[in-house]
Amino acid sequence: MNIRADFHSHTKYSHGTGTVEDNVVAAMSLGLEALAITDHGERHPLIGVKPSRFDEMRRDVDAVAKEYRFRVLLGIEANILSPRGEIDLSPEDAAKLDVVLAGFHLTAYPLRFKDYFKLPFNGVTRCFCRNSARQRALNTEAFVRAVTEHEIDVLTHPGFRLDVELKPIGEACAAAGTFVELSSRHKTPDLKGVEILAATGAKLIVNSDAHKPARVGKCEYALDMVQKLGLDGDTVVNISDKPIVFRRGTTV
Ligand SMILES: [Zn+2]
Ligand SMILES: [Zn+2]
Repeated sequence: MNIRADFHSHTKYSHGTGTVEDNVVAAMSLGLEALAITDHGERHPLIGVKPSRFDEMRRDVDAVAKEYRFRVLLGIEANILSPRGEIDLSPEDAAKLDVVLAGFHLTAYPLRFKDYFKLPFNGVTRCFCRNSARQRALNTEAFVRAVTEHEIDVLTHPGFRLDVELKPIGEACAAAGTFVELSSRHKTPDLKGVEILAATGAKLIVNSDAHKPARVGKCEYALDMVQKLGLDGDTVVNISDKPIVFRRGTTV
């Protein structure tokens, strides 16, 4: 079993080590049909991509796609910034992209200072966000509201370094048409978590989250879980030959 396209890869535009071309060459060598370039959203310190660069990135992606006759999607991995589910991407900027991924990253900086004390953004504020039922509810709410209130195509690595309830997250994604990522890079969710998500009716997607070209398309961990649980292309969209229709309309 393998994926037919990888929808989560990083390049030098954020902190990946390869160029768009390097990642595409790697994807093609594995026989993939398509690859998404999804660098970090702008509130990722130092490495986040400002939307003002989207036009330049689009030219780069389109030139590589044309040269290699290969489908390359331009996306972003936006940051979830508060329990209200805010993200660092406006609808106007999102319109320039083929796919919008979003996830929670410890190092992102929120829009308001008070939010440092609501989600565990870094080592200091983690002290204020101790693992508790209340904190778990806030973490979960952040994901649920993000996918409910924003047109997010893929929710990345839910639960990575963050205590969440996967059932309501899966239900919100199923209702909204957002795919939930099984991350081979962060090895999350775990087997039980994938089972919970699949039971909600949410569609799942297996991605590499490669930060170097050699990792593009490499999804052993996630595919192993898919196999163990006997999930098929009706649940895991990119192991199927059927067209993959993302929430915002992009079809692969
Ligand atoms: Zn991420
Ligand atoms: Zn990523």
